Amino acid sequence: MASTVSVVQRVQSVNPATGEVLAEFDPARPAEVQATVARAREASRAWQQLDVGERARYVLRIKEALYRRRHEVAALITREAGKPRVEAVVGEVMVALDTLEYFAHHGAEFLAPQPVPHHNLAVRFKRGRLMYEPHGVIGIISPSNYPLNIPFGEMAPALVAGNTVVLKPSEFTPQIGLEIRDLCEAAGLPSGVVNVLVGDGSTGGALVDSAIDKLIFTGSVPTGKRIQTLAAERLLPTVLELGGKDPMIVCADADLETASSGAVWGAFTNAGQACLSVERLYVARSVADHFTELCVDKTRRLRLGTGDDPSTDVGPLIRPRQVAIVEDHVTDALAKGAQVLTGGRRPDLPGFFYEPTILGVNHSMKVMRQETFGPVLPILAVESEEEAVAFANDSEFGLSASVWTRDSSRGDRLARQLHAGAVMVNDCISYFGVCEAPHGGIKASGIGRSRSRLGLHEMVRVKYVDVDLVPQLPKLWWFKYGAKAKNMMDGFLEFLFAPTVTRRMLGSLKMIVSIGRKL
Ligand code: NAD
Repeated sequence: MASTVSVVQRVQSVNPATGEVLAEFDPARPAEVQATVARAREASRAWQQLDVGERARYVLRIKEALYRRRHEVAALITREAGKPRVEAVVGEVMVALDTLEYFAHHGAEFLAPQPVPHHNLAVRFKRGRLMYEPHGVIGIISPSNYPLNIPFGEMAPALVAGNTVVLKPSEFTPQIGLEIRDLCEAAGLPSGVVNVLVGDGSTGGALVDSAIDKLIFTGSVPTGKRIQTLAAERLLPTVLELGGKDPMIVCADADLETASSGAVWGAFTNAGQACLSVERLYVARSVADHFTELCVDKTRRLRLGTGDDPSTDVGPLIRPRQVAIVEDHVTDALAKGAQVLTGGRRPDLPGFFYEPTILGVNHSMKVMRQETFGPVLPILAVESEEEAVAFANDSEFGLSASVWTRDSSRGDRLARQLHAGAVMVNDCISYFGVCEAPHGGIKASGIGRSRSRLGLHEMVRVKYVDVDLVPQLPKLWWFKYGAKAKNMMDGFLEFLFAPTVTRRMLGSLKMIVSIGRKL
């Protein structure tokens, strides 16, 4: 009988600007995943015993280690994820440093027990409070597009809150994942508190299936759905930060110079591989021609190249499969009548590049409906604000959106009408760098929130503790029941809720008489 040999694909670190294989790793298998989670569980016992200030000091030491290695880390991000160096420094290292510091500084405040005052007379002699307790072991599965700032954005609150962490970085950025592990080691974190498992989707699947207490997943909608199905089997709590198709609305009164620069940056930063990228643009017809010309002109001036060349504005995509999706969306758009205003092809470069592309489109095209996650800016002229909002909301996604106008009340009105987890007025994407801002989507863009106080609260279980300050006081709702008890409670209800003062007074009389009889 022929034996079956299972060939496990190695995880490759590849420079997307050249296609060169930089390193190869064996993916962690299920047994290693289970053992790592067991180690994290063991480490969590002592980690939880530290007070929040001590844990915060460790997190600050990670920040210091990252700061010391900032140049090497930025260079690695450019090499393995293809980002221009400025984006590696600002969008990754700076955001990660800021996030680590933010949670270290605010953890104690956000985790302090919260008093819960009671308004009902019947329970006035009790004191309630909310206590925040760590889940235990948090699993983090992260994507390739922000391989440093996303994991740290989730690890920092997890650690401060008293959890240990098992991180599975993207299979496209394994070296950055291992750098995160090394930074935590350099910070002197106790063994087992931060664990990094290099691997692909099967490693991620094994982590979902392991004994972790909560999963924080960031990635695509299809993977998120698969994970949620698996997690449902054992009611594993999850946060899902998924894909987007973020609309940008440019009103007729917008500052078109600023809005066009914003649109070009929002669509092409990180070669369009940001969950918050401007993926579709609706512009008022009266200014559409001029606005589009500005966008096209600014896009033609972008320099495509390798991220280590300081003059590069736009780098490569992460893998050929991502270039293929971009090509498919552009081909579909052309078949449905789109105009290519600039770009629209792969350049003659060795890596996984696609030219920054602007398309004149209609709403039926894939490039307006599905996440492209590449350097394509489709522009559609609209007749009115209402039409812009209707198009923007006609999407399965709801991550973020932006509105560009000089009129703050219009900005506010449109922000309220848009179906999204966040709306920026006169900027795009950059709220992700605001530590105080919660991040997360609605509809298919996800469940739960990361970053901010709300992100920290995803890392804890809320326990309500209630203390009776005068336990000797009889509880009128305890046994024994009967006609008197019923009369008393009827009176109490009337006293609390009857619509007129007179009826409330009568209710209180009825209650007092019945109390006397019941006691
Ligand atoms: P992806 O879904 O292909 O992979 C994400 C991670 O999931 C990787 O680590 C991968 O190994 C792992 N994975 C794959 N299959 C798995 C499985 N069956 N079980 C468990 N883990 C599995 O996403 P990607 O291509 O790396 O990232 C791009 C996507 O992520 C885009 O859709 C983008 O919008 C989204 N994203 C969302 C946010 C956000 O905050 N909402 C941020 C960044 C990226």
